[in-house]
Amino acid sequence: MSTTTDSTPPLQLRGITKTYADGDGTIRALVDVDVAVAAGELVGVMGPSGSGKSTLLNIAGGLESPSAGEVVLQGQELGTLDRDERARLRRGAIGYIFQDLNLLDALTAAENVALPLELDGASPRDAQGEALAALEVVGVAAKAHRFGDDLSGGERQRVAIARALVGNRPVILADEPTGALDSVNGEQVMRLLRKACDRGAAGIVVTHDAQLAAWADRVVFLRDGRAVDTAAHVPVGDVLAGPSA
Ligand code: ADP
Ligand code: MG
Repeated sequence: MSTTTDSTPPLQLRGITKTYADGDGTIRALVDVDVAVAAGELVGVMGPSGSGKSTLLNIAGGLESPSAGEVVLQGQELGTLDRDERARLRRGAIGYIFQDLNLLDALTAAENVALPLELDGASPRDAQGEALAALEVVGVAAKAHRFGDDLSGGERQRVAIARALVGNRPVILADEPTGALDSVNGEQVMRLLRKACDRGAAGIVVTHDAQLAAWADRVVFLRDGRAVDTAAHVPVGDVLAGPSA
C-alpha cells in the first residue's frame, strides 16, 4: 500500500478518458481529463448537459472505471484494487451526494444518515448519535425520525448532505446537490459543502449555477468531455460566455 502525506491530494484524476459503445461508434464522455483536489479545496464542475460531469464524478468515486487513466484516492490507485477493496476504500473515504439523492424512503432521516456508518462497522448506538449530530449541522434534526417520503424536497436534500458529511470522510463528491432547490436552499447547501472542505475535506461539486459555483476555490469547465480549468479569480461568467455557450 502506498503512503499518503499531508501534501498528497486526497483525490487525483490523471489522464481520464471514458468511452461508451454506441451502436457502431463510440461516445467519448471524457477525454484526457486531469483534476487533483487538495485537502481543504472545493472544486466546482460546470458544463452543458452531456458534457461528462456525472461521468467524471462516478469515476472519481470509483462507481465506474475509466477507459484510460487513473484515479488515486487517498494515495491508492483504484485500478489496482479488487472490487471489495475498492468498495471498502470508497465507503470509508467518500461522501457522495447523488443527483437523485438516493434516500431510502423505508428508513427515517436518522437511519439513512446512520447507514454508511453502520456499514463501516460502527455500533448502531454510535451511528445513531453521529447521525443526529450530522442532521443538527444541516438543520433538520427536528425531522430525524420522519421517514424519507415524509420530508420536503429541501429536507431530503439536507438529509442526503448529512449522510455524505457524516463521519468526516476526506473526500466529498456532490452531483448537482442544489438541483431541486430554490436559491436560498442552494446557498445553504453550498455553505455546508464549503464548511466540510474548510474542515479539511477535498470536495467536487457539480453545479449549473455560476453564482453557486462562486463558493468553489476554482471551477473545472467541461465541454464535450474536455476540461478547461479556471483559476479562482477568473469570473465564471467569462468562461460560460465561451464560443458555444
Ligand atoms: P452530464 O452529467 O454532464 O450531463 P454525463 O456524464 O451524464 O453528462 O454524460 C456524458 C456523455 O456520456 C453523454 O453523451 C451521455 O449520453 C454519455 N453516457 C453517460 N453514461 C452513459 C452510459 N452508461 N452509456 C452510454 N453513454 C453514456
Ligand atoms: Mg449529470
